[in-house]
Amino acid sequence: MGEICSTCGLPKELCVCETIAKENQVIEVIVEKRKFGKHYTVVTGMDTKEIDMDQLLKKLKSKLACGGTAKDGKIELQGQHRQKVKETLLEIGFAPEAIVMR
Ligand SMILES: [Zn+2]
Repeated sequence: MGEICSTCGLPKELCVCETIAKENQVIEVIVEKRKFGKHYTVVTGMDTKEIDMDQLLKKLKSKLACGGTAKDGKIELQGQHRQKVKETLLEIGFAPEAIVMR
């Protein structure tokens, strides 16, 4: 017992919450309008050495129930999800001041 992180629910050896908190990363959440009036929510600024992008994408997609891709340290989600993305990032353990909404 006491082996599970209370922030992310992962076993301590897999948990990156403390690392995230220590790093002074600035995560940008940007809503872009593209071709055919489609909106995308782009999340950038993660330190890809510290953050498992595939895991983060998976988590965001299941929370937001939308499609998305991760590449070049950038996550693109279909639709406008500013608020929910922020909520999810906070849940994972990012500090509120580390998240910038554009
Ligand atoms: Zn954790």
